[in-house]
Amino acid sequence: MNNQDIKLLGKKFEEDIITWRRYLHEHPELSMQEAETAQFIHDKLLSFSANLVVQRPTPTSVIARLKGGKPGKVLALRADIDALPIEEQTDLTFRSTRKGVMHACGHDGHTAMLLGAARILVELQAELHGEVVFIFQHAEELASGADEILETGALADVDCILGAHLYNQIPVGQFGLAAGRMMSASDSFDITISGKGGHAAEPDQAQDLIYIGTEIVQSFSQLIARQVNAHDQAIVSVTKFNAGSAYNVLPDHVQIGGCTRTFSDTTREFIQRQMQENVETLSALYGATGTVEWTKGATAVINHTQVTDAVRTVIENNFGKEAIQTLNPHMISEDFGSYLKEIPGNFLFIGSGNSKEGITYPLHHPKFTFDEQALLNGTLLHVMTALTFLNSLDEITMK
Ligand SMILES: [Zn+2]
Ligand SMILES: [Zn+2]
Repeated sequence: MNNQDIKLLGKKFEEDIITWRRYLHEHPELSMQEAETAQFIHDKLLSFSANLVVQRPTPTSVIARLKGGKPGKVLALRADIDALPIEEQTDLTFRSTRKGVMHACGHDGHTAMLLGAARILVELQAELHGEVVFIFQHAEELASGADEILETGALADVDCILGAHLYNQIPVGQFGLAAGRMMSASDSFDITISGKGGHAAEPDQAQDLIYIGTEIVQSFSQLIARQVNAHDQAIVSVTKFNAGSAYNVLPDHVQIGGCTRTFSDTTREFIQRQMQENVETLSALYGATGTVEWTKGATAVINHTQVTDAVRTVIENNFGKEAIQTLNPHMISEDFGSYLKEIPGNFLFIGSGNSKEGITYPLHHPKFTFDEQALLNGTLLHVMTALTFLNSLDEITMK
């Protein structure tokens, strides 16, 4: 089957893919609560073919495997399936029917595209080398789903993994690619400074925890500007600073929160260690106590160069050279990075913006939607990379 025939197959199933996306959009579920979504995916896959082996590695995720007619390697394609705690503000006819829950990150589209790819690859099973693993992953928005899937061992035999995210800052019809660093790791922190409060008129009898807090916050800017290598992108953002409730009382505790974004493990660890030290020593300097609690977030998405080059070739051959935008590293995050730490692979952006149609809102915005033409592009890319990769995976990942 040539690429023209695959495009025709894509066209044949495009309406189904859009219908699935709209159904999922109307019925969003939060991370770890994707029970109906997983059941929907499970049932759809079983309806495609008895040859799809469907498993449920965790209660709200689904994995399907399709063995080709010829021997070969194992390629995984991943979609995420969870929605966000956002009240939808679009006027779409298929807007969310669930109060305060919305597919504002395009995961409804990711799920529909991967279902579409499974549907088409079922048709091409006889000529498929090796095996395709379709991962419908839960809890991406908590940055925990990928690790949970990996821990089940369900991907132990996978040779290469590919994933994609819809992205409105790239026009529909184009793709965003990055070899190496693509998206940063993200962690969040909660700092508590405790000490002796007192009368605002007698600061010498108390500890001025707000002053200590401001010194700590300023020390973080110094840390990034002066102690991290300028080539190693890193951010510390303080987003919460809560203290006190009266005009004339010095509070006895201060809460500070925020997040960090990093790429290298060394810098990630260094920043955490150094922030901890700043909090403890600056607090102690003024007689107070400072503690930091960390919540580990997503691992950085660092694409494998050879796999990325091969994806680039697939896009060039099927969508044209002009369809590729080369990306600078982004400081947003994605838990796909966990897979890439263990399995060679690539993560890319599928352009889904359309400024003429007013489709410009970014991910996680209550008015977010995407151009549905992107669904066919993403589905075709899944299918074409699966066929190309499984025929040449030795060359791609062994170089
Ligand atoms: Zn998101
Ligand atoms: Zn997302």
